[in-house]
Amino acid sequence: QVKRRGRNDFEFFRNEMRVHVTTLLQLERDLRHAVERDELEVFYQPQMDLRRGGLAAVEALLRWHHPERGLVLPGDFIPLAEESRLIVPIGEWVLRTACRQLAAWRAGQWPELRLAVNLSPVQFQQAELIEVVRSALDDSGLDPEVLELEVTEGLLMDNRDLTLQALADLKAMGIRLSIDDFGTGYSSLVYLKRFPVGQLKIDRSFVRDLLEDRGDAAICETIIALAGHLDLEVVAEGVEQVEQLDWLREAGCDRAQGYLLGRPMSVDALERRLSGDAGLLSLGSA
Ligand code: C2E
Ligand code: MG
Ligand code: MG
Ligand code: MG
Repeated sequence: QVKRRGRNDFEFFRNEMRVHVTTLLQLERDLRHAVERDELEVFYQPQMDLRRGGLAAVEALLRWHHPERGLVLPGDFIPLAEESRLIVPIGEWVLRTACRQLAAWRAGQWPELRLAVNLSPVQFQQAELIEVVRSALDDSGLDPEVLELEVTEGLLMDNRDLTLQALADLKAMGIRLSIDDFGTGYSSLVYLKRFPVGQLKIDRSFVRDLLEDRGDAAICETIIALAGHLDLEVVAEGVEQVEQLDWLREAGCDRAQGYLLGRPMSVDALERRLSGDAGLLSLGSA
């Protein structure tokens, strides 16, 4: 009896695995064509300047309009793109697209706007990363100072020469390096000194309960103080409530990003949302 069930469980597991692997292979095959078939879109999520109010920056967040599956979120395809190294051409496409968009916004309604783009550790393993970044800036006519490149703590533990050199080169170009999901990785504070970091993004897991949880509030306060002492800019992610926004402003946080201020949106949706008196700007002056 027990044996039989064990066997059934195994069969079940094997079928599940087969379905899972087939799906992943299929998805990877589809992803290979996504760029040329024009299925990828860059969404933009606003970041509010907590000192002056108003829009400080937008973060570029990738979306995939899959012909059968509909909208696929990065969590479901970025890992695949990294394993297959498709993230290299896709990441370049995101960077070029977002830089061109930022240049258009800066020439129009938002002359001061900055841009944050996520970089995968896999992109640091290509010797051409610096050339790609330089070329995206040149083609869009953007100043390197307006670009913020987000990496995770894991990258700073990667001691390969290629990574270290790329980080130094980006800094030398005047680009701001930002540590995404700060506080959730395995890096140590030593890395903040050793690397040319310019910004910390407090992970949204610390922001979520900061009004109820003393521990989370203490962590947010500590990261904000740390950033202050090291002369780094600090951005809070995942802000969903006005009370969190007020708390962060009081605590001296520089910027906020989260659903309260706006979800990641298409170009059209962002322009509609932020034009006139509605949306972010009215919140910022409240
Ligand atoms: P991330 O860089 O930490 O981006 C923030 C994520 O948090 C986004 O998820 C955003 O939609 C979500 N978020 C923002 N505000 C809130 C909030 O108030 N509440 C909640 N619950 N969530 C919020 P998204 O767009 O699904 O992206 C997930 C991750 O995928 C990103 O995390 C980033 O690591 C990665 N990613 C996205 N686009 C790219 C890309 O172009 N290149 C690379 N390498 N990674 C990307
Ligand atoms: Mg990010
Ligand atoms: Mg993040
Ligand atoms: Mg995150």
